[in-house]
Amino acid sequence: MERIDRFLLKRKDSNLLRKLRPADSRFDGRIVFNEKEYIDFSSNDYLSLSNHLFLKEASKAAVDNLGTGSAASRLLSGNLNLHHKLEDAVAVFKQKEHALVFNSGYQANLGIIGSLYTKRDAIFSDKLSHASIIDGIFLSEAKSFRFRHNDTGHLESLLKKERGRSEEALIVTESIFSMDGDRPPLKELIALKKKYDCKIMVDEAHATGIFGPTGSGIVEDEGLTGEVDLIMGTFGKALGGFGAYIASSGKIIEYIINFCRSFIYSTALPPPVIAAGLAAIETVRREPFRRKRLLENAAYFRGLLNGAGFKTRGDSQIVPVIIGSNEKAVAYSKALCARGYWVLPIRPPTVPVGEARLRFSLTYEHTKDILDNLINDMRGICKI
Ligand SMILES: *Cc1c(COP(=O)(O)O)cnc(C)c1O
Repeated sequence: MERIDRFLLKRKDSNLLRKLRPADSRFDGRIVFNEKEYIDFSSNDYLSLSNHLFLKEASKAAVDNLGTGSAASRLLSGNLNLHHKLEDAVAVFKQKEHALVFNSGYQANLGIIGSLYTKRDAIFSDKLSHASIIDGIFLSEAKSFRFRHNDTGHLESLLKKERGRSEEALIVTESIFSMDGDRPPLKELIALKKKYDCKIMVDEAHATGIFGPTGSGIVEDEGLTGEVDLIMGTFGKALGGFGAYIASSGKIIEYIINFCRSFIYSTALPPPVIAAGLAAIETVRREPFRRKRLLENAAYFRGLLNGAGFKTRGDSQIVPVIIGSNEKAVAYSKALCARGYWVLPIRPPTVPVGEARLRFSLTYEHTKDILDNLINDMRGICKI
């Protein structure tokens, strides 16, 4: 097809053609490509649980006892006690009435938003929301209004103008934004949801396991569990496994089980994945030192960056370093890779024009020593 040739050529010409790069292996916050080892600053394995012995043993035992696959969707014969055990654990972890497990965060957002809302409704979402949220809104056919990032003034002006024209309304945000590493003004968003009679959904993909007294997330951290209608999160990032969850009221969960197509028409997650999820929640509870060290080191790294004159944002384990020009971001990333750091440039359209950046995603294995060496190398490489 001519159109496909044209699109690929355009991507290639502007140096934006995406390619899959197979790694030989990953371990201890490192990644190996073509037998060369790098310190990996681009993974979401924040607590380094994907190689945790307890998770691996739980996963292996589940394979031995229950097999490698689930054989069918949850509503047919794919539904095991183990799935319900995980959902009970998530409900306790998130302090909500009920929880439901999804096959991935993408499928969760697509299905939750897509099934709960219709074209008679309105959805107000943060401009920086993840693609899965945007696609869920599209699927729902609800009227979509996007407010400037974390700008409650802008959100209120949209609500004032548009809320009266729809039946139901939803406000959607993430609790840690993936490209800026910052959190939303949740209390203000909740005040607006009450004032304008909306529901609120929070995507905790990057916060689950890391924030809050028990590691439940930002909603717990800010004491707002009772105020958030739908709390979504994933097992593939800090929890070191795969899959996702929604925690909400029993009624909402029952509705999703009956009407959400991405839940109904997909094979249930296999036993080893479910067992790893259960073991991960247990590990987050038992090993708070992981999240504590991660956040301490992230604050330490931000301090080093500020001291060296770099511009950074947010307040989490995701540390963006704003470079500005695309060319510089690419060149710095290349030079840092040559020094053994796997850190990737993030460019428009993923981020606004003129805000190309290096995105450092810290994990439990990235010690202060590693960060000290990194900042020394960055001082030499990145001319700011
Ligand atoms: C990663 C991510 C998802 C998707 O989760 P997967 O389990 O990887 O499909 C959804 N929302 C946000 C904010 C994410 O960062």
